[in-house]
Amino acid sequence: WSSSSDSVISADSVEDSPPPPASYRVVLLGAAGVGKTAFTSIFAGAADSMDSDECELCGDEVFEKEVEVDGETATITLVDTWDTETDDDSVQDCPMQSGDAYLLLYSITDRASFLRASELRITLRQFRPAEQTPIILVGNKCDLVRRREVSSSEGRACAAVFDCKFIETSAAMQHNVWEAFHGIVRQLRLRRDSKEA
Ligand code: GDP
Repeated sequence: WSSSSDSVISADSVEDSPPPPASYRVVLLGAAGVGKTAFTSIFAGAADSMDSDECELCGDEVFEKEVEVDGETATITLVDTWDTETDDDSVQDCPMQSGDAYLLLYSITDRASFLRASELRITLRQFRPAEQTPIILVGNKCDLVRRREVSSSEGRACAAVFDCKFIETSAAMQHNVWEAFHGIVRQLRLRRDSKEA
């Protein structure tokens, strides 16, 4: 009888089990040196050992993790792009096309990276219309106050023009990095919910 009671229990638990968590592919875009690897390391949970062996975890540029946002679990597959400054479009096309959402990074200490983010946003718009794809413009390295070249209001204004959200972060201080990831999940859910409604 024990096996039949087991099967009753498992049937119940299947019925009660929640649906599998939503899975989202989030792509990091930005000029070299803005902090994409640092973001990936924090996401991967290796923030205190960026130079250690643990970094091999994020060496393949794709990292998957379950995160809880507002009490609901989501699976994020984080894609760390590289070499986005190349003019070779074929390198850019793949991550540009494959994301459900994008974190568009620049460094507040590097105006060229801010301009690069604008270029990338324009390229992205061709692949992903704004209404469908959440994008957050991320001004990283906000701990480097004295080296700031891009003001917060410039960043905010740029995000408004490009119809995306804006956040300033410091990967070095682990400030607002998870807020950026959580923000992108919230936006993805908003779009999901409005589609379902
Ligand atoms: P990537 O080329 O976009 O992947 O940039 P990395 O993540 O490799 O970062 C480039 C350099 O900037 C590294 O030396 C990082 O340690 C440093 N860095 C990244 N984020 C921050 C930050 O928020 N603050 C400071 N001060 N340095 C950072």
